[in-house]
Amino acid sequence: MTRTEGPSLACVIGRARRLACAAVGGYSHTSPPRRRRMLLDQLARPLRSLRLSVTDRCNLRCAYCMPEPDYVWLPRAELCDFAELAELAALFAGLGVDRIRLTGGEPLLRRDVPALVALLAARLGAERHAAPLAGPGAGRPELALTTNGILLADQARALRAAGLDRLTVSLDTLRPERFAALTRRDAHREVLGGIEAARAAGFGARGDEPLKLDMVVMRGVNDDEVVPMLDFARELGAELRFIEYMDVGGATRWRADAVVSRAELLVAVGRRLGVPEPLAGRGSAPAERFRLPTGQVFGIVASTTSPFCLACDRARLTADGMLFLCLYASQGVDLKTPLRRGAPRAELAALLATVWGARAARGAEERLAESERAPLVPASQLRKNPHLEMHKRGG
Ligand code: SAM
Ligand code: SF4
Repeated sequence: MTRTEGPSLACVIGRARRLACAAVGGYSHTSPPRRRRMLLDQLARPLRSLRLSVTDRCNLRCAYCMPEPDYVWLPRAELCDFAELAELAALFAGLGVDRIRLTGGEPLLRRDVPALVALLAARLGAERHAAPLAGPGAGRPELALTTNGILLADQARALRAAGLDRLTVSLDTLRPERFAALTRRDAHREVLGGIEAARAAGFGARGDEPLKLDMVVMRGVNDDEVVPMLDFARELGAELRFIEYMDVGGATRWRADAVVSRAELLVAVGRRLGVPEPLAGRGSAPAERFRLPTGQVFGIVASTTSPFCLACDRARLTADGMLFLCLYASQGVDLKTPLRRGAPRAELAALLATVWGARAARGAEERLAESERAPLVPASQLRKNPHLEMHKRGG
């Protein structure tokens, strides 16, 4: 492991071997399946979900994510290739991850993402049979992708055919001029075309796997479109999720008064469409879901005013193989370097088990406790350490 951040490899490996076994119920790569146990962190949160960033490049410049004039990109030679990404994904799956979401940057900018999806589907399907944490009969981890939709029209069918289970498209406005102002690109038509192609390819065709739309709501920018966006989602048969504007790294223009809170969203929706009824069974999902009197279901991700850290089961991996345990974390752990030097699978699993076992992150809750909230990281510091950017970690 490169000692970029986090514990050094030398210091963790010995401890890791013991810990990994204790945490995952005697897991070794060759041992037969035993009973289902989960890898838990310091707050008893299991490792269940992985956000896998496949590129830090993006074809938009959303005001809440990439507002600066220019950025420092990860060197191409440092990016994990598809085989490395699949190896790392399999490592996580072997330790209990059952949901993997491809993200970025804009994931569809990476060449041939459907081939990556196919590789992951095949590899993780085989892996699942061997994984002691999977339990008998468990299928492969669910594969999902979050995209801004610009390149989706050309790729939706191939992604579906490759085995992608779920799709989320980010869409903040129905107005083309507003889209251009918010993202600094005139590409609204392409996004709508992408959404249409996704429906035609079968995403959202099954009620239990709805096509999702994510809308970051900002005061004075698009908060007048909350109800029109719900109407749009209903007609499309998609599930809309309102996302509170977060003060994550990269959001250098964040201001508390630009956040439209969960409470305000519920009032705005209720006033026009009737009182939303909360749905039970949220589990570890970031979105709280509600049903309108019309039957339409929507979600709110209230990470800024009502964080869900205590249920967070997500790990994040950047395109260059750096593991982050929280969206707000300032330090990560390099998994690519030991992978590239040929570390045995058991060693990598032990490292991951140790790192997760030591996890105590509650980034969004800690931010909430701060009396004077301002952007998390100044632009000058982001340039020195680009891993702090939201578009490196995948949101
Ligand atoms: N480029 C893809 C997209 O936009 O869907 C995937 C990566 S993007 C970083 C993932 C999600 O993070 C998007 O839904 C985006 O709206 C959200 N996001 C980015 N910055 C945010 C912020 N400051 N507050 C809330 N959500 C944010
Ligand atoms: Fe790009 Fe997604 Fe960030 Fe927008 S939110 S700038 S589309 S990575």
